[in-house]
Amino acid sequence: MDIYLDANATTPVLPQARAAALAVMSAGYGNPSSIHGSGLQARALLDRARATARRVLAVPAGQVLFTSGATEGIHTAVLSALVELRARRQADATAPTALLYGATEHKAVPAALKHWNQLLGLGCSIAPIPVGSDGRHDLAWLAEHAPRAGLVCTMAANNETGVISDLDGIEAALGQSQALWLVDSVQALGKLPLNLAGRRVDYAPFSGHKLYAPKGVGLLYVREGAPFTPLFTGGGQEGAQRAGTENMAGIAALGAVLDALEEGKTFHSLAALQDCRRRLASALHSAFPHVVFNAPADICLPTTLNFSVPGVASHALQQAFDAAGFFVSGGSACGAASAQPSHVLEAMGLPAWQAAGAIRLSFGAADGSDFIDEACARIVASGALLVASSTATDLGISAAQAGSLMRDTPVAVLVDVRESHERDRCEGAALADIFGCQSAPLSELSSHLPAWLELPADAPVVFFCQSGQRSARAARTLRQQGHALSFSLQPASHPPAVAAARATPSQAQPAHPR
Ligand code: PLP
Repeated sequence: MDIYLDANATTPVLPQARAAALAVMSAGYGNPSSIHGSGLQARALLDRARATARRVLAVPAGQVLFTSGATEGIHTAVLSALVELRARRQADATAPTALLYGATEHKAVPAALKHWNQLLGLGCSIAPIPVGSDGRHDLAWLAEHAPRAGLVCTMAANNETGVISDLDGIEAALGQSQALWLVDSVQALGKLPLNLAGRRVDYAPFSGHKLYAPKGVGLLYVREGAPFTPLFTGGGQEGAQRAGTENMAGIAALGAVLDALEEGKTFHSLAALQDCRRRLASALHSAFPHVVFNAPADICLPTTLNFSVPGVASHALQQAFDAAGFFVSGGSACGAASAQPSHVLEAMGLPAWQAAGAIRLSFGAADGSDFIDEACARIVASGALLVASSTATDLGISAAQAGSLMRDTPVAVLVDVRESHERDRCEGAALADIFGCQSAPLSELSSHLPAWLELPADAPVVFFCQSGQRSARAARTLRQQGHALSFSLQPASHPPAVAAARATPSQAQPAHPR
């Protein structure tokens, strides 16, 4: 059995959603715009799915439109807002029109802002709202900039880290500002109450395939009275707000998922999901005693864990998990081919090694307890194997790699293990001139070990000597004592093992970056 733990990228389709889609494609294939019996049947299904969506989202007023997914919803919302800002500016040249978006938004948001700003020739300023190290928006910054904002985009929960935005705090920071507010709610559906109707949220896009419906269907909520410009015009479908014959199979499937949400039996409670996450975190701790979680659990979706393992690169972890039939992601699936470190983790200010080594593990709200047990067992098994092999091979690093490590990781420690009478120039000494170093001759190593073992798990310790042999012994000893992030600087004439590159985050190309 494969263990799929990449639910934030996409989910399988729920059996009842599959059945609903098949029924529409076989018997109930009418066009909801037709006025004969078959069309009326399709119309009834469409109306029923929308009514369920209204109840699940608790939005009795405003529009709920079926779309092709969240990217379309985001573009529709941004277009609508920017057309309104153009009108406001025509009426008043001093009207606030800055476009602000959370620095950790899904790329669809800044891309849509840039696209429509350019296409409409508006020339609005576009700026990211900074986030703190916990991934949450800097509310003081937002409060300061809100008065000049025309549109503010802040996601409800982050797809990479699971960090839940403080929507109440954001609303308070918006204060008296006239800014329109877009909340990308993709990752929140089914996991988090949104209270859209109780907040001044103008637009909230959703995506079916993140919650057990097929790809290619989604929803867009538009607050009553919020400006709206259709992205598509044509045959007048969706009250002429979104033309194009409806994706009835997708809508039927999404309707079935929403029915399941409303019924409350298929998806697990918040407490049950939190218990699953606690078990997964504890399995990760057993497999990798130095695992570092990249976002605080108490403000994260209960279904997402983003972590890094000091000394083990993201692609090495992914390969080990993959081999065990255990599928996780090195970041968001949309950017997986772009070989860039995560913009989300970078915005949070994580050290380069931690951002480059990050793994996202996300499960679905319908995943059962047995499934989580099996996932835990595979984490422990594949993790233990990986640590053993990486400990055996990833000891040596080049001077360039060591230099990057020292530069990128302020807590890194450089240690000269030569005896006091050896003062020949070597690559390590050149690094010591730049970064400083501790002196700990190998003969006195044991007296220094306790201090290094007190270092945080994510503090790399790089040993050097003349030949690379004593430094390798020192690094191996420290690893055996439990500090995984221990390295030996290999002189140029002793090139490091190829595998060493895996252990040097700032030099390694993450295999599955965002
Ligand atoms: N917003 C967030 C937070 C997402 O996670 C995604 C998908 O990865 C999207 C938007 C885009 O959704 P869709 O695939 O439905 O276009």
